[in-house]
Amino acid sequence: MPSPTGCSRILQIHPTRRCNLKCLHCYSLSGPREREEVAASVLLAALTDAGQAGYGVASFSGGEPLLYKQLPALLHHAHDCGMITTVTTNGMLLDERKLETLQGAADLIAISLDGKPKSHNIMRASKQAFAGMLARLEGLRASEIPFGFIFTLTQYNLDELDWVASFALEQGARLLQIHPLEEVGRARAKLLFRKSSDFSTRRRERFLKEKYSPQRGIRSTCSRGFWKSKSRCWPTETKRW
Ligand code: SF4
Repeated sequence: MPSPTGCSRILQIHPTRRCNLKCLHCYSLSGPREREEVAASVLLAALTDAGQAGYGVASFSGGEPLLYKQLPALLHHAHDCGMITTVTTNGMLLDERKLETLQGAADLIAISLDGKPKSHNIMRASKQAFAGMLARLEGLRASEIPFGFIFTLTQYNLDELDWVASFALEQGARLLQIHPLEEVGRARAKLLFRKSSDFSTRRRERFLKEKYSPQRGIRSTCSRGFWKSKSRCWPTETKRW
């Protein structure tokens, strides 16, 4: 039977809760003051086990994974274990030095994006978040590491999906993933999510289907399905709503 993530089994790794931002919707309550990390030895062993168990993708996020010193070593080890690697980042720290360490190690960089600059900055609780991320995209393109965007849909940015899709295309993204809001962590506390919320998961899905499917033929894809197989095609299996 195919796995929920398509052909590939994906190991999700959150090596640290340290982050340069403190976003309102952060499900892991990450932030600049957090110091909690998983030891690299534990993660190296987990990658070895996952590779032997047939996992095809190692996906790193956080916290901000670029703040985890041993990230390049983990990425290379994942390759040695036969796995494809992805790194999800807010993009602000992707300077030339970081990109050099990721070349040949990260197969995909996924940058989180929450809408137009104003919406992005509000959700990221930083006036510099959008400009800081945008400033890194030229270097990222020059590095030739494939990249895309992950858009977390909330009640505050649901009208900005068209803009986000256009922005992603203009920037040369190879992926735009629409991610549902995880109703835990800071999202629950800051975005006032309740079971009685008027923006439930079902309502979000109905909204997307009604607003976008007829014109654009948008189809839902598995949220973690970046890769179809080691032949490096994407996205993975698709389903109609
Ligand atoms: S959502 Fe991502 S960028 Fe924002 S605080 Fe959490 S880990 Fe950091």
